[in-house]
Amino acid sequence: MKKHWREIMLVNDKWEGPIVDQHMHLDKTNRFLSAAEEFSNAGGTGIFLVHKPSFSTSLPRNISDYRDVYQETLNMASKVREKIGLDVQVVLGPHPVTWDIQANTMGVEESTELHISAVGLALEMIENGDAICLGEVGRPHYQVSEDRWERANDMLLEIMRMASSSNSPVQLHVEDNGHQTCADLASLCDKAGLPRNRAVRHFASSDLTQKNTSGLPVTVSMGKGSIEGICSSIELSKSHWGMETDFLDDPRRPGAVLGPRTIPKRTNQLCKALRLMGWDNDKIERCILDIHENWISSTYF
Ligand SMILES: [Zn+2]
Repeated sequence: MKKHWREIMLVNDKWEGPIVDQHMHLDKTNRFLSAAEEFSNAGGTGIFLVHKPSFSTSLPRNISDYRDVYQETLNMASKVREKIGLDVQVVLGPHPVTWDIQANTMGVEESTELHISAVGLALEMIENGDAICLGEVGRPHYQVSEDRWERANDMLLEIMRMASSSNSPVQLHVEDNGHQTCADLASLCDKAGLPRNRAVRHFASSDLTQKNTSGLPVTVSMGKGSIEGICSSIELSKSHWGMETDFLDDPRRPGAVLGPRTIPKRTNQLCKALRLMGWDNDKIERCILDIHENWISSTYF
């Protein structure tokens, strides 16, 4: 369902083309459609709706629970398309923090087994065309025991192998250890046979240099300072990159992530900042269209 954009999308330094938030969660018991509407009203055109685990209520205990909660995410995506008219791509998978929590309750063997089955189920649904990407999968973003860390990495390698066999892209939830994190992920990709350009590091910093990304696509968390970071590294970047909020739709954590209007707002700020760097209309348009359309196509489709 691709829209036909007008030929000129940059009008007086205001962007009128596609604007995509590549990592957003919605919760049908919280703001849900009103959050999607707020994004749309601000100029947003598409979202990647990432499956949200129910940390606060009850986590899936078996594969049939996973089937139910995945289906719930698909249903929400349909609602947003239908009611708000956004282009919604679904990202399905078991969250690495779920695995860690469950390892504490059901034991690491059983938790890993369930996690891998949940990856298999998500890949099945992706192959059926219900979703577009596996995620967010990865490893805990906080310190865990050495043993748990090793298990997490073995499991991630297995997940990447599975994604590679079914030719699916992945969105990765990982720790923040500077440039070492992507370097690590890149070598896991190589080991698993997963093309680096299909492994998106989510919640990335705005440092777009090759040293920081190791050639992986990244979605930059567009908080304060992100525009400055992007501008100072954009001309050194060799990666495909995009923008995200990681909006959680959780009223108890309002400040934890960015609000629904952030990506439209930052996109326009980026246009202005690039202008100040001396870029002409053409160059700015090409860049923003890469971010919100072309690189998305080449990474996920
Ligand atoms: Zn997320």
